[in-house]
Amino acid sequence: MQLTLHVTKACNLRCTYCYYRDFPTGRMTAETALAATGIALDRTAPGDALAVTFFGGEPLMAADLIRELVPRIRHRALRRGRPATFKVPTNGHLLDDDLLAWFEANGVFVSLSIDGDAAGNRGRIDTEGRDGFAPTLAALRRLVADATAFATYSVITPGNVAHLADGIRFLHGEGARILVTALDHGADWSRRDLRILGRQYRALAAFYREEMQAGRPLFLSAFDGKIEAHTRPTGDGVGCAAGVTQISVAPDGTLYPCVQFVEDPRTAIGHVMHGIDESCVSSDVSSGVPSGATVGAMSDAMPHGRDEPCDDCGIRSRCGRDCACVRFQAEGDTARLSALVCAHERLLIPIADRLARELYRRRTPLFVQTHYNPAYNRLRALEALVRSMAADPSTPGAHR
Ligand code: SF4
Ligand code: SF4
Repeated sequence: MQLTLHVTKACNLRCTYCYYRDFPTGRMTAETALAATGIALDRTAPGDALAVTFFGGEPLMAADLIRELVPRIRHRALRRGRPATFKVPTNGHLLDDDLLAWFEANGVFVSLSIDGDAAGNRGRIDTEGRDGFAPTLAALRRLVADATAFATYSVITPGNVAHLADGIRFLHGEGARILVTALDHGADWSRRDLRILGRQYRALAAFYREEMQAGRPLFLSAFDGKIEAHTRPTGDGVGCAAGVTQISVAPDGTLYPCVQFVEDPRTAIGHVMHGIDESCVSSDVSSGVPSGATVGAMSDAMPHGRDEPCDDCGIRSRCGRDCACVRFQAEGDTARLSALVCAHERLLIPIADRLARELYRRRTPLFVQTHYNPAYNRLRALEALVRSMAADPSTPGAHR
């Protein structure tokens, strides 16, 4: 079960692509967070993990609350036979050495929001309209020097798409090894922008190939996710967990199916005071709806996996069309198939497939190990790599 606690909606940045319309300074109380934890634990099978994400706004503006909650949530979860994991996505401006040491000691995984290099980050400005890149880069260097595993999270927009490949190379050069990219589905993408994106993905594929052939492990979500969906298929489509195995909690305790919905009260599915309103949420797997949700407050029937244009599509089993958040962001409606998602999947998956075919044909050892050996623990390999890089004086940020 994934529990996302929006500990505050306040933020010290004003990214041009942010889907928040306002940034109220209020924050969640510990009682609200713990009540939400109870609801999430009720839906977590014994032995399964409760995966908690502290979300914002900028969650580190409520760092003291996070410090209070981590041990309390862990204790409650363990008492009920469920381990808890913790993640915090952050723009890094408030990530100092003390907080980072605390995260490390308490097992909180950091995901740093950084859109590649300086050119890619032009949309990330602070509340005064100033460039927000330098403090985020300082946070990246701190994370590298600290030698714990972390991820970078880069949003691809029409405004920065031309810098994608250079930006990812830049982050990698700085020492990041878990590199997550996400398309801004709420933006207006032209055909020209998508052509640029295709070129950038191809340049990124060349980079991934170089690294794999040199035996240097990395995780690049754009390709690894699609390749994994082929080598370790889980069914028809990647499905959607919104409202079923994923809930988001607003600072005031209102429950939503996933993060994108938190701005829209029409999509609420309950409140921590009285739990999830089951009439809003359905997980009707018997009808062919993949373990995803029907978000009843928004659409009576969410035809996940049944979109007619997809019936004959050769890549439907790896297509992300079912994600309710993405549909909501792109179309404002979870029942509507997104033309942008479709165009993006048709662009990305063939590039990922060509890349995988070539690496497999050459029996590239690291690639075969990563994608075809079920015993290979990639996260552990990446952690070991991050530790060794921090000890290497040629890594930027190491030995600060
Ligand atoms: S850091 Fe996140 S919450 Fe803050 S403005 Fe940027 S996208 Fe929005
Ligand atoms: S790529 Fe397009 S047609 Fe194919 S499954 Fe995805 S949304 Fe449907």
